[in-house]
Amino acid sequence: MEPRGWLPLLLRLGLICLLGAPSEPRLRVFVVPHSHMDVGWLHTVQESMQAYVTNVYNTVVEELTLEKKRRFIAVEQEYFRLWWDGVASDNPGDVTWPFLSAHHAKVRQLVSEGRLEFVLGGQVMHDEAVTHFDDQILQLTEGHGFLYETFGIRPQFSWQVDPFGASATTPTLFALAGFNAHVISRINYNLKEAMQDNQQLQFVWRGSRSLSAQQEIFTHVLDKFGYCSEGFYWDGEPIFPHPPENGWYPSMQFPVTWERLQSFVEAVLYNVWVRAAWFWTPHVLWPWGCDRQFFNASLQFANMDRVLEQVNKFAYQHGVSMEYATLGGYFRAVHAHQLSWPVRDQRDFLPYSSDMHHAWTGFYASRSGLKALARRASALLYAGESMFTRHVLLAPHPHLDPAWGLQQLQQLRWAVSEVQHHDAITGTHALEVGDMFVEHLSSGMQGVHTLMASIIQDRSPAQSGPEPGGRLAVVYNPLAWTVTTIITLTVDFPNVSITDESGHPVPAQVQRSKEVPSAYDLHVLTTIPGLSYRHYSIHPSRRPQEDTLEPVTSLASSRQFGRRLRRRGGLVGGSLVPVENDCYTVFLDKDTNLMHSIWERWSNQTVQVTQSFMEYHAKSDFDQGPISDNYVFRPSGRAKPAWEAVRMEIVAGPLVTEIRQEFYREVDDREPTFAIYSRLAHRPQSSDGELLCHRIEQEYRVGPLELNREAILRTSTDLNTGRVLYSDNNGYQMQRRPYRNYTNNIIAQNYYPMVQSAFIQDRRSRLVLLSEQAHGVSSQGNGQVEVMLHRRLWNNDKWAVENDLTLNDSSVVHPVLWLLLGPWTLTSGLRQRSGLALQHRPVVMLREMNETARRGSGFKLQEAVTLPSSIHLQILSIPGWKYSSNHTEHLQTLQKGLDHCHHYHYRHHHLHHLTFVMVPHLQGLGSGCSPLPCSVLQSVLQGLGSVVSVEERSLTGTWDVRKMHRWTWSTRDPPRHRECVCPCVCGCVNVCAHVCSRPHPPPMSR
Ligand SMILES: [Zn+2]
Repeated sequence: MEPRGWLPLLLRLGLICLLGAPSEPRLRVFVVPHSHMDVGWLHTVQESMQAYVTNVYNTVVEELTLEKKRRFIAVEQEYFRLWWDGVASDNPGDVTWPFLSAHHAKVRQLVSEGRLEFVLGGQVMHDEAVTHFDDQILQLTEGHGFLYETFGIRPQFSWQVDPFGASATTPTLFALAGFNAHVISRINYNLKEAMQDNQQLQFVWRGSRSLSAQQEIFTHVLDKFGYCSEGFYWDGEPIFPHPPENGWYPSMQFPVTWERLQSFVEAVLYNVWVRAAWFWTPHVLWPWGCDRQFFNASLQFANMDRVLEQVNKFAYQHGVSMEYATLGGYFRAVHAHQLSWPVRDQRDFLPYSSDMHHAWTGFYASRSGLKALARRASALLYAGESMFTRHVLLAPHPHLDPAWGLQQLQQLRWAVSEVQHHDAITGTHALEVGDMFVEHLSSGMQGVHTLMASIIQDRSPAQSGPEPGGRLAVVYNPLAWTVTTIITLTVDFPNVSITDESGHPVPAQVQRSKEVPSAYDLHVLTTIPGLSYRHYSIHPSRRPQEDTLEPVTSLASSRQFGRRLRRRGGLVGGSLVPVENDCYTVFLDKDTNLMHSIWERWSNQTVQVTQSFMEYHAKSDFDQGPISDNYVFRPSGRAKPAWEAVRMEIVAGPLVTEIRQEFYREVDDREPTFAIYSRLAHRPQSSDGELLCHRIEQEYRVGPLELNREAILRTSTDLNTGRVLYSDNNGYQMQRRPYRNYTNNIIAQNYYPMVQSAFIQDRRSRLVLLSEQAHGVSSQGNGQVEVMLHRRLWNNDKWAVENDLTLNDSSVVHPVLWLLLGPWTLTSGLRQRSGLALQHRPVVMLREMNETARRGSGFKLQEAVTLPSSIHLQILSIPGWKYSSNHTEHLQTLQKGLDHCHHYHYRHHHLHHLTFVMVPHLQGLGSGCSPLPCSVLQSVLQGLGSVVSVEERSLTGTWDVRKMHRWTWSTRDPPRHRECVCPCVCGCVNVCAHVCSRPHPPPMSR
């Protein structure tokens, strides 16, 4: 929007007159210079560095150094760190700090004077709808660790100004990270308007159901002008891939000359008065900047200086003063006003609609394959972290160089952090940018796989063995509980013998693979204590089972049910086939080949459950009105069945029964477009199998889709749910989602993100869906829940086509859901544990047998860690930061001039500096509290060596919580809600332990 458009000239002049006689300035305007730099959107990270990011930091640092009154806030640490370690470290230093580059010296100065302020401080500005809170913590920790290590500072304000909707997880996490205030922007358009009118854009947000002040945060919603100050950019638009040599960019604003000065001043003043009416205090936050701004900061500041100077010259006449400020400067002024603020409860701001036709609910399922990869990478990282930590601290590691191991983890931490960006995991980026995310994740995963193989190698040195042709499977359980589950391997022979580390046969089942005709799925039942390993030897069996005493795995039997056409009405349920385990009986209808109902043993209840693939046909003609795209979901009508025929096969064995339903788009298609592979496990004779028994595991096959189709799996039941759905915020807590009767766009506006779980229920029973990755979820009918699994879109929006942002995703995806059914008393406990079991499945590493392993020898047992079932070990890692946990000591070290020798020593001292966070998940996060028992800490720590000291740290590890004093914001709530519940733990406890590991020989470098 051009400033001239803000108000006709006459009106503007009138306004200035009305402002009246000279008085003290009534309004204080905080102009906060910033540049919104997406970590991958239309261009890759490297292209962005080249085209503008490098110049943003180069020129901003120069301009701030030149003029003391100027300020800037820096947000995305991935970019800042690339600049800091790259270009900024090159140019020579000065006399004061000869060992620092000139840029490094200047930045240190600006940071120490508070003129350059880091806000948010994560690697990226993470999405809030489809990210898991584990990954949010990771990406914040990566950025915060760097800032603390480098500058001794800790960000205190957030800046979540572009994510598409706001989650209630964020206030909780940011409070625990030590933030004093939180900024969001994209919330439902008419809610924002109402909040403006009622001066409710600022409130204290109690994101967690727990009412502890420890987890609430003062929140500021940017008004409708958002984070952009249109008409006030003088540096134009960046040019990709290289900056132009003549320094001339498109869309550069005319400079502020004497003739134009007055119109700029009037425009800014009008805007200020409009905004001021929406806020309680006489302070206006005026974000100055937008996407990709300040790459030519001298033009920006030179012009804005003139506007500010002119406004301030007449401050007494029009009652407005303007100053450059950081975000902290603004919040300090608001805080000093000492008002009592309204309180918002744990409700989130999802979904986000930018107007009545644009519900941003499509991105919950855009690029489903990337969403899956992001979570797999995160799970692998989680496993790699604890495996590495325990190995380095506990065991001799003759071949493993810990510094190299840390590097591998570091690379994956960066890749997983990067993909949390609000244009990454959301699927709202250009095609080549998606390739970059995949490449970073894949090479990070490759590195961690190599690290894991090295750890296994270290634990069981290679020996020449006599048994070629077989394989060794090492299985690691990354959870700190004993897990009983079935792992699946692929083998190319049907007669298999499998034995454990003591040479005993292991329960297993082999069956023809569902997708590769020449291969076989080998299901192996395993029970693994927390954070420990099992080893299995797998051999082709020499003779058929009858001829030998050698233990041979059972071969599953198969029953085929030919294609059935999709019925249009008529009798169903006439002939049912039961498939059962100890917890459920699933009834399949032979007349339709679809699921008919499920009987749950514990409550002796039968619920009708049927599942079908359907598709929404997307609007795609841009000239005919709003369309479905990467962001927005805009169906042309109700969902329609997406298949004409379905065939079924039931593969039954002693461990698992698998129901294979394949759906054909046309009656005589050769290949199915959709499939459901459901598994029921048969519980072993031990109590450990409770979770395994109480789930129906489903894997799907979806795709390739036709153009402009959005595919859902609709599960319909006879539960009387009144269309009330529950879905999670970031795997952290549940939100109640009643169906809302919007006048417009009703289907899309009733879609919500599902990151880890969703459920529907009535008095009798609850149907829980657990997911491995993010999807969209909705309940469009009574007793129904539908999950959007995949989208393929094409549109004729010129801008989208030119930028390769059209979501023509022709891939086949294989998402996984686990179904739990039963009364809430049963499923509420199972839901959280099962969700974690799905998220952190055991990691299987295979080695060829010809180079290794005489059966049962050479493996070093590792002490297991078993926590109480109500506690989840959130993370166990060696962060590798080079800072002291004592803040004063750390600052002194930084001030001493970062002597390199000292630094080196420092790093070694702190290599064994652990962070782990525990969440008492199962007592209901945020729904109640209980102190973290000391015994829990002990049981984890005793698996690590001799503990020297333990201290509680903030969520991202940079604060000693005893020293972290967040601002208190007075609220209009009765005081009973404000009681401090310390030392009760309602969220995460982040504990750093200094550990002396058991003595072992020094590592050999690789
Ligand atoms: Zn953005």
